[in-house]
Amino acid sequence: MNKQTVIAETEKYYLPVFGRYQMVMDHGQGCRVWDNEGKEYIDAFAGIAVNSLGYNHPVLVKAIADQATKVMHCSNLYYTEIQAKALRLVAEATGMDRIFFANCGAEGNEGAMKLARKYGVAKSPTKYKIISADESFHGRTFDTLAATGHDYYHVGYGPLSPGHVLVPYADIKALEAVMDEDVCAVLLEPIQGEGGVHVPSDEYLQQVRALCDKYDALLIFDEVQTGVARTGKWFGYMHSGVKPDVLTFAKGIGGGFPVAGFAVPERLAHVFKPGDHGGTFGGNPLACAAVYATLATIKSEGLVEKVAQKGEYFIGELKKLQAKYPDKVKEVRGRGLILGMELTKEGRPVVEHCLANGVIINCTAGSVIRIVPPLIISKEEIDLVVAALDKALAAM
Ligand SMILES: *Cc1c(COP(=O)(O)O)cnc(C)c1O
Repeated sequence: MNKQTVIAETEKYYLPVFGRYQMVMDHGQGCRVWDNEGKEYIDAFAGIAVNSLGYNHPVLVKAIADQATKVMHCSNLYYTEIQAKALRLVAEATGMDRIFFANCGAEGNEGAMKLARKYGVAKSPTKYKIISADESFHGRTFDTLAATGHDYYHVGYGPLSPGHVLVPYADIKALEAVMDEDVCAVLLEPIQGEGGVHVPSDEYLQQVRALCDKYDALLIFDEVQTGVARTGKWFGYMHSGVKPDVLTFAKGIGGGFPVAGFAVPERLAHVFKPGDHGGTFGGNPLACAAVYATLATIKSEGLVEKVAQKGEYFIGELKKLQAKYPDKVKEVRGRGLILGMELTKEGRPVVEHCLANGVIINCTAGSVIRIVPPLIISKEEIDLVVAALDKALAAM
C-alpha cells in the first residue's frame, strides 16, 4: 500500500481518537526508523518511552521469535520457565519481592489501587481514599481516569469513580491537609511524564513517605514512564531513596512488547488471596520473553550507567539551546533520558518541523517538548536531535 492508502484505510476504520502525524512507519534499526517512502528518521520518542532497546535489537527479536515457536500463551494457570526467569529479573530491577504482570500501564495501576483498597478496607471499612496529583497521568480506565489529575481526560465520563482525591503535585502542605486515617494510598509519579516532565525535590518525596507511614497508607509510585533505566537508575524512586510500597511498571519493560504490572515487598504479598485479582494475558510467555531479554540486555550493556551519562550530556546541550533562545525556551528539566523543554509557545509546530527534518520528538502539556529516546541512543544521534531542535527553534 502506498502512504495515502494506508492513511485512508486507517482513517476509514479506526475510531478517530488519535491525532496522528502524517507518517507511515515501515521498519527500524537501532534508534533509526524509516517510513514507507524510504525517508530516514532518528527516533527520540521511542513510541512514547517504550522502545528501550530501539528497533530490532537482535537479542529481543530472537527471544520473542524463539518463544513464539514454543508457547505463545498458556494463561497463568500453568507455569513456564520464561516467566520464572522474567520474574527474578523484575524483582531484582525493582528492588521488590513479589510481582504481578498485566498488559498495560493503566491495568498495572488498577491492580495497585485494588491492592491498596483491600489493604485499607481490611483495617477499617472507611479506609478507601486514594490521593493522587494534579497534572498526573495514570491511564484511561475508569479508576485510573479518576486518579488522573487533568480535567481534559474527565470531560463527559462522569460520574467518576468515587474515593479519589486530587492535590497539587510537589506541594506537601496540600497533601498534609487531606491526609487522614481513611486514606489507603497515595499514588504519584516520581517524575510527572505526560504532565510536562516535572521533577519534584527528594525532600518532597521523603515527606510524602513520612505522611504515608504516619497514616498507614500505601505509597504507590507509578513508574510506568520513569522505570526501567529511563532516569539513569533502574527505577525513578532510587534517586530519592524513597521506596514505595507498590511500584507499577509498563512502557519500557518489554522493549516494545505490551507488558506491565506492579511489584510489592513481601509484607504485602498476601493482601490478595488467590482469586482476588488476575488476568488472562498478563505475563504470558511472549511478554515474559520480551521482559527477560530487555532487562538482561540493559544489564549486560550497562545501560543504567550509560543513560545517566548520556542524560547529563543531553540536558547540557538543551540548556545551551535555552541560552541561545531565551525568549523561546522557558525551562529545561528532566533526569537521565526523560527530558522536557518548556517553550513559551505551543510545541506542536516544533515537533512538526523536526519531523520534516527527520527527527521524532514529542510535545506534551501543550508547550513542553518531551524527549524520551531509546536507551541506546548514541552521542552522535543526540547531536543530530539537538541540531534539528536548534533549526526548529530558529524557525519558530
Ligand atoms: C503511559 C502511562 C500510563 C498508562 O499506560 P498505558 O499503557 O497507556 O495504559 C500510566 N502512567 C504513566 C505515568 C504513564 O506514562
